Amino acid sequence: MYLYCNSCGWEQDDFYSSEGYNPANYLKDWMKQLCSNDVDKQFTDDAEFVRENGPISTREVIARELEKFAQRIREMKWITWEHWKKERDTAVCPKCGRRDFSID
Ligand SMILES: [Zn+2]
Repeated sequence: MYLYCNSCGWEQDDFYSSEGYNPANYLKDWMKQLCSNDVDKQFTDDAEFVRENGPISTREVIARELEKFAQRIREMKWITWEHWKKERDTAVCPKCGRRDFSID
């Protein structure tokens, strides 16, 4: 579930949990490929990703995924569902200051 602002479009990543979805659990799936001999071959696992990014090596895909999650971690205002539940009655959007949230 991810939280977003209806007024300005601000959004954050899905809520994290220590045992469920979180950057480390997501990224660990890439670590086997990072340590394989195929890391510099052209990435072909995701046609849509290749269409958007052009020819790209698996090494570069992994590097970009790590950078993407680093940025998301910095931008997460309410990291867990529990954190959000505690503050949602008074929470305001970090970008526009309104209280007009939705969760998908
Ligand atoms: Zn907003």
